Order: sequence, then C-alpha cells, then structure tokens
Amino acid sequence: MSTQFHQPETIPEALELLTQHGSDAKVIAGGTAVVLMIQQKLIAPPVLVSLAHIPELERIQTVGGEIRLGALARIRDVAQSSLIRDRLPMLAQACGEVGNIRVRNQATIGGNMAEADYASDPPAALLALDASVTVAGPDGTRSVPLSEFFLGFYTTALDEAEIITEIVIPTPPDGARMTYHKFKSRSSEDRPCVGVAALAVMDGETCSELRIAIGAASEVPVRLPTAEAMARGRVLDDSLIGEIADHAATKIDPLDDLRGSAWYRTQMIRVHVQRALLELRNEFSTL
Ligand SMILES: Cc1cc2nc3c(=O)[nH]c(=O)nc-3n(C[C@H](O)[C@H](O)[C@H](O)COP(=O)(O)OP(=O)(O)OC[C@H]3O[C@@H](n4cnc5c(N)ncnc54)[C@H](O)[C@@H]3O)c2cc1C
Repeated sequence: MSTQFHQPETIPEALELLTQHGSDAKVIAGGTAVVLMIQQKLIAPPVLVSLAHIPELERIQTVGGEIRLGALARIRDVAQSSLIRDRLPMLAQACGEVGNIRVRNQATIGGNMAEADYASDPPAALLALDASVTVAGPDGTRSVPLSEFFLGFYTTALDEAEIITEIVIPTPPDGARMTYHKFKSRSSEDRPCVGVAALAVMDGETCSELRIAIGAASEVPVRLPTAEAMARGRVLDDSLIGEIADHAATKIDPLDDLRGSAWYRTQMIRVHVQRALLELRNEFSTL
C-alpha cells in the first residue's frame, strides 16, 4: 500500500488535512520515532502529514513574561539556544543529553512531547518549569498544563486532529537555580533510567521554593509536591537534603524494565535527588 505524503505550509492547512483524513493520517515532524515505527512495521499510516514546512513552528522566543518553544524546534537547537542556556539551563541540559547528536539534530521538542515515551529527558525538566503545551485543532487553540498532558504510556491529551504548536514556559522566579540529572544504566547514549529535574530559590541559606520532577521512572513524569514542601522556609542542610531524597524515593511507584528493576530505580531516585539538591544548595551556600 502506498502512503500519501503531504507537506502543508501553514497550521490551518495541516489541521485541514488531519480533519479530512481522520485516523488514516499521522503527523510527522523530525521522524525519529515515526520512521522507526514504519520500518519496524508497527504502524502503516496511509497518510503522512509533515510539519517540516511550517516555519512559524520553529521559533524559540520570549513573548511577554514567557519563553516559547515552537513544536518544530530541534532538540539540539533548544540545547544550544543562548536564551534557553541563560534562562532555563536545566532544559538545555536535558535536551543536550538526549540520545546522540544525530538524534538531537533531527528530533523536535514537539515530537518528543507528543510521542510520550516514558524514557525521555525533556518532559521532567519542562514539568519542573511549570510548562504548558499549546494545542491547535479544528475547534481552535487550547493550552494544556504539562501536568495534565501525559496520560500514560505513549498517551497524551492530544485529540486525533490536533497538533502541538508551542511549549510555553513561564519565566522562573528571580534567582532560581536549576539542574537536570540524567542517570543512564546501560550506555552513554542511552535513554534515561531515571531523570531528576530540580529548581530551588534561596533566601540566604533558607529555601523559599523547591521544585522536583522525576522522569523515566514511571509511566509519566511526576512532580513531588510533598518533597517540595519539606524544604520551604527551611535551611537546606545536608540532613534535610537526605530526608527529602529519602521521601522522594518513597513517592514514586517505579517501573521494572531493561534499564533497571523497580528496587534499583528507587535507589537511583534517592541518590540523584540528593545529588541534584546538593548541587543547587552548594551554588548558593556560604556554609
Ligand atoms: C536512537 C534514539 C535515541 C533516543 N534517545 C533519547 C533520549 O536519550 N532521551 C529522550 O528524551 N529521547 C530520546 N529519543 C527519542 C527522541 O527524542 C524522539 O524520538 C523525538 O524527540 C521525537 O521527535 P520527532 O520530531 O522525531 O518526532 P516524530 O518521529 O516525527 O513523531 C513522534 C510522534 O509525535 C507525533 N508528533 C510529532 N510532532 C507533533 C506535533 N507537533 N503535534 C502533534 N503530534 C506530533 C507524531 O505523529 C508521532 O506520533 C531517542 C530516539 C532515538 C531514535
């Protein structure tokens, strides 16, 4: 069976094609996931709708108090953008650690979100940054907080005829420090076994805000509000960091797969939350 290949040049044109072809149509962006699935005969879409010729989807920009990533921005462009490196360094780190340079050159940030593979890096960083996803569909545009976007394995809140147009990130609080720790259990280019994204705002030695998101350890990336609350208004000393890391490890129901057993992932969550918080604390500390 031959596949029709469409290359719309505007968002409305793309949406029109998706509506017209319904479940026969598959969006393709960088193609790093879609092409593999076709080659492995996991999918055989009769119609491919490429977003590659819609230049407005490629922008990385600030608009008002927000940083906006066009869905078609390449993972490598996000990692290397001076705006992202200056303002959202943990996102630059997470994108800079995706696969290898060939993957980063081709894969898009929108494709990474839409694919919703649990073993991914950018989603945990974006969750800790309180990002939302802008989705365009036949009935208009809507904004979905990232905390409501991932529904399960390879499943998102996207409807059939919808596309992601942007990922929107509010400016982080003044003075926020942030880091992303990717733990790989098999090879230097592997997907994460566990990813820890952490952001801290300090007032002297006292932590006024802490955010922690864990990726790749469960079906969807998760924020840890109870662990975050443990730090608020307290001196982030070694003992508190140890308590928060222990607590964080109990809050995830980890997966068991080729990258690590559930028990191992629990230990790695504890270790990497501790390392991430020590790193953030030591950047501020005069102790
Ligand atoms: C060898 C290899 C190693 C990898 N290692 C890592 C890693 O370490 N960390 C990591 O995070 N990821 C990793 N990945 C995954 C990679 O990041 C994703 O495959 C990539 O980001 C998907 O983007 P894409 O543009 O290629 O998507 P595509 O393959 O074009 O599409 C992927 C899915 O998203 C849909 N889609 C794409 N764009 C949109 C849109 N704008 N709106 C709606 N739906 C859309 C498609 O229909 C499809 O279902 C790896 C992939 C490979 C091949």
